[in-house]
Amino acid sequence: MPLIEYVRDYLQRYGVTSHLVNTADGTKANLWASIGPHDVPGVILSGHTDVVPVDGQNWTTDPFTLTEKDGKLFGRGTCDMKGFLAVVLAAVPKLVSSNLRIPVRIAFSHDEEIGCIGVKSLVEWLKSQPVRDELCIVGEPTDMRPVLGHKGGRAYRVYIEGREAHSSLAPHAVNAIDAAAELIIFLKQISQEMRNGPSDPDYDVPHGTLSVGLIKGGSAINIVPKSCEFVFEYRHLVGFDAQGLAERVFRFANETILPPMQALAPESSIRFEEIYSYPSLAIDPGHEAVSRVKAIAARNDDGKVAYGTEGGYFMNNLGIPTVVCGPGSITQAHTPDEFVFLNQLALSEAFIDRLIKSITP
Ligand SMILES: [Zn+2]
Repeated sequence: MPLIEYVRDYLQRYGVTSHLVNTADGTKANLWASIGPHDVPGVILSGHTDVVPVDGQNWTTDPFTLTEKDGKLFGRGTCDMKGFLAVVLAAVPKLVSSNLRIPVRIAFSHDEEIGCIGVKSLVEWLKSQPVRDELCIVGEPTDMRPVLGHKGGRAYRVYIEGREAHSSLAPHAVNAIDAAAELIIFLKQISQEMRNGPSDPDYDVPHGTLSVGLIKGGSAINIVPKSCEFVFEYRHLVGFDAQGLAERVFRFANETILPPMQALAPESSIRFEEIYSYPSLAIDPGHEAVSRVKAIAARNDDGKVAYGTEGGYFMNNLGIPTVVCGPGSITQAHTPDEFVFLNQLALSEAFIDRLIKSITP
């Protein structure tokens, strides 16, 4: 919140009013601001304000003090993606003094790193706005290469409850680990189907993926376990029915695994909790918005990336053509001694300059 307030106060100094979309408890917010004419479709510059933790990472610089060395800026979030936010904010004086034909919107979200949580309420609020913008640029690190797509992703935590007993009385108990194993085998079948399903050669792993990441349950070798929980995640191509997959898993759990458990121990249960969900992004390479971003980026190539962004929310939920293009390399993101090259920030500044030129008379 202090970061968002800092940005709000900074923008205020240039006469730019921010709209904050707060969380229910008021501890975090998304920030939306508009420069130029308000009543026509504009260009959104989108980024997230949060970073991943530095716990357990071996940093040689203070991760929260910006350190310049050898043409690089070191610090947590320099590459992902506070460098882009800084470039956008640094351009505000120029944006304000330019005679913009269409507005430039600043969209800064919270809690992207834990699964695009913050942007959802921002997008909901934008739905209620009278004007739908014509382009969204997400400044995640792409080395300033226009990125036209990424997979969507979802993750669930599964809680399984059975009935405990001494292991010698196993037939009177309901083994939660057994039930988890049954469900995990089912998930493995689905991951096999995804492997044989639709593919997109632009990705290193061309098909959808599903994997179980963490499991815990039981307390002793001679106790039939009452509880087991595990997490799984899947990443899918555009057009994949992500909700349909989830419902298929819920159905198998409730209709195949649970009834025999409850026949013996009616208190048995299987509960799913969504950890995160973000849509895939895919924009047609021939889309006018793509040529526009390529012109602004002054390059002809494009690509797809393995990581997720908030872009799918703007494109799928609001219908705004969206391209990812920002300074820095994703290989630096989330690492100790994260850095961004100063020349990447310079390219990003030139990008914003060309954007301004493209929307002034
Ligand atoms: Zn990021």
